[in-house]
Order: sequence, then C-alpha cells, then structure tokens
Amino acid sequence: MKLTPSVLLTAAALASALTLPSCNDAKTAATAETSTPASTAMSGTAATTAAEDSASKAGTAAPDPSTIPAGSIADAATITARPQVPILCYHQIRDWRAKDSKGAKDYIVPVDAFKKQIQMLADSGYHTILPDQLYAYLTTGAKLPSKPIMLTFDDTDLDQFTVAKPELDKHNFKAVYFIMTVSLGRPRYMSKAQVKQLSDEGNVIGSHTWDHHNVKKYQGEDWVTQIEKPTKTLEEITGKDIKYFAYPFGLWNPEAIPELKKRGMVAAFVLAEKRDQQDPLFTIRRIIASGYWSARTLHNSIVQSF
Ligand SMILES: [Zn+2]
Repeated sequence: MKLTPSVLLTAAALASALTLPSCNDAKTAATAETSTPASTAMSGTAATTAAEDSASKAGTAAPDPSTIPAGSIADAATITARPQVPILCYHQIRDWRAKDSKGAKDYIVPVDAFKKQIQMLADSGYHTILPDQLYAYLTTGAKLPSKPIMLTFDDTDLDQFTVAKPELDKHNFKAVYFIMTVSLGRPRYMSKAQVKQLSDEGNVIGSHTWDHHNVKKYQGEDWVTQIEKPTKTLEEITGKDIKYFAYPFGLWNPEAIPELKKRGMVAAFVLAEKRDQQDPLFTIRRIIASGYWSARTLHNSIVQSF
C-alpha cells in the first residue's frame, strides 16, 4: 500500500481505534463515542474524514472483489480493527395488524416509522454504501463516503419493493436485498422482474438461501439446494455475479464459511453478535432496525452498536 497523506491520516484514526480492546464490544464503543462529542457516528466517520471530499464524489463506485489482488488483502486482525460501518437489517415494512405478535413487531416496521427512520438518516448526513465498497474498505482500507451506512432487506417481502424502495429513492439511497429464491413470485413476495429492476437500478442482490433453512444444519446436497442453485437463479435474473450472503436467522458456524467461499461468496452477514476472529468478512455484523424504534432510538442504536 502506498502511504499517501490520506492513508496516513486514516492509519492514525485506526490506531486510535486500536486502543479499544475490541470493536465488537458495543459498550466500549459507546464509551469511546462519548469522548468524541463532535462525531454523531463514530464508526465510518473516524475512518473516512480525511478522504471525505473525494470519496463523496466517488458515489458507489468500488472495485469488484475479484480484481483485488490476494496480496493486498489485509489480515483478519487488521480487518477486525477497522471501525465498523453501521449496517441495518429490515424485513417487513407495513403497518401492524391485530394478529402480529409482540416478537414479530421487531421485524415489521410500520410505514410511517420507516419513513421517519430513513428521513433521519438523510437529515443526519448518512450516505448509503454497497457491499463492494464495504469489501474494499475492509480488505484494503479504501475510502468511503462520510457517515457511511448500509441498508439491507431480508426475505424477499413485496413491501420492500412497493413501500421501502420509493422512500429510499427520494434520498438516492441504495440498498442490499437478500433474496430467498423459493419465495420469488409468490403472493406478498417480490417477483423476478422486481428483483431485476432493483439490480438494474444500482441496488445489490444477495443470497439468503432457497427456503431459509439454518446453515448450521446443512449436509451434502443441502449446499447445492440452498446455496448453489439459488445463486445461479439470482445470477440469471440479474445478469450479475452473486457474491454476498446473509445467514438465515443470522446463524452460522465455522464449517459453513469454506463452503460459502467455494461457491463464490466473498463476504457474509450475521446479526448483532460478535464477529469471528479468524474470518471477520464472513461474519459482518448488522442490527435489526426494530418496528418499535423511533428515529431517535435508531440513531442511538447505530452509534452504540458499531
Ligand atoms: Zn431471513
């Protein structure tokens, strides 16, 4: 890596982050945040302030992971030490119904609450980034826009297309849609044409298996059914390589990681638990943006969780 001034500044920011015992420790991160009141979002901001101007203009451009030489990819400890980019995970975006359980409402964000959450992100100056940008940042320290955030949508629900996308479009936000292919075209789920449109409009399509079975239980042919065939289906729909995966229920085990790598995945996303020390790229953290959360609560959670 060439040591340009911006890289040195980024390195300084990383060095200060390294004084934390672990980026996974939400409590420690929150403590650090209170010592830097000028920043409303510690992660990302610390990593990118030096390069803010040029990177913001760069938009969502990022190299394809396959073009990054293996020799220039950072080791696991370096990747883990970089400030995390906040990543939100959404499921259904619709008003609550009488039969929705208390637990389900974490996964169902009412339309007005969603609009307020997205408006808050825009008003706070967040810029949505996509997985190739995140990959380049984590592996090589590439620049990100100021206040980066990633928005992800799991499970193929139709309201992600009909309700969420128009809200994101208002702010020129892009997102990642993790599709379970068994649902394509079913009532209340997205069609293949809608998934293609999302992809054509600059969003990223990722895999969320065929029918949402727990990855920890796969044996033999399950890898073909749950990973290989759905990947092929999504590649046929989008005309693009499928490189990113979200574990159903956020559940994973170390045995799954080489199986995903063999099948073309370059990174995979979990939920809020700790990352794997050996393979942080295959255990990238996300938080579920709850249906109970106001915009303020979401903001607090972003600051404290990453
Ligand atoms: Zn899911």
